[in-house]
Amino acid sequence: MITSADIVANIAAIQSRIDAACKLYQRRSRPTLIAVTKTRSAAEITTAINAGISDIGENYLQEALDKQAELSVQPKQWHFIGPIQANKTRAIASHFDWVHSVDRAKIITRLNDQRPPELAPLNICLQVNINDETSKAGAAKDAIPQLAALVLQQPQLRLRGLMAIPVNTDDIQQQRHNFAALRSIFTDLQAKFPSAVLDTLSMGMSADMEAAIAEGATLVRIGSDIFGPRPSPSR
Ligand SMILES: *Cc1c(COP(=O)(O)O)cnc(C)c1O
Repeated sequence: MITSADIVANIAAIQSRIDAACKLYQRRSRPTLIAVTKTRSAAEITTAINAGISDIGENYLQEALDKQAELSVQPKQWHFIGPIQANKTRAIASHFDWVHSVDRAKIITRLNDQRPPELAPLNICLQVNINDETSKAGAAKDAIPQLAALVLQQPQLRLRGLMAIPVNTDDIQQQRHNFAALRSIFTDLQAKFPSAVLDTLSMGMSADMEAAIAEGATLVRIGSDIFGPRPSPSR
């Protein structure tokens, strides 16, 4: 089992990797580190928050709600990053600050209609299926402008940008190629909707964080390099 000291040391190591990549790739603004905590305990999340983590990402609604209720210290922002079932949108709209995995119209209108009016608008990233994998979540590239227009019409949603989970590869050039493709869709979107505040590229996980930073990531989502390998490969 991973100890608290390990988690604290791993977070410091990731922050140094982020700094080094920003320097190497001459990034002027530093991406925000989201600690991805699926399968991790409330105690482990508390350790991460106490070590300075401001943003927590979760994939599974019920698991996230249980841990949110258990925590005595909350992060600044909760990010929902997992697949979204339509019958879960009310709880997602009520208990998160960001949703990164929005990929269809029905989810967009439900999140808007179900976002509690007393809360600030929900921050939205559209998930792009960047390698056109049939098995993967995310909208096709060609569907993105229309979905973006729909999000922009919703008063309780705020479109921030795009998210992707590219194919797994160790080849950093291939990783960069995939992230550059997402960035290109993003800059097209910025040009198409000049009055929208599109400032977010959510890309980069433990194995490809540096490539994502090279290509302009503003949010990186890191799990195993903070908390160790996950118990089951499917989660
Ligand atoms: C699990 C997960 C991560 C973190 O992956 P690691 O390889 O453990 O860093 C990031 N983003 C999403 C959407 C995930 O499901």
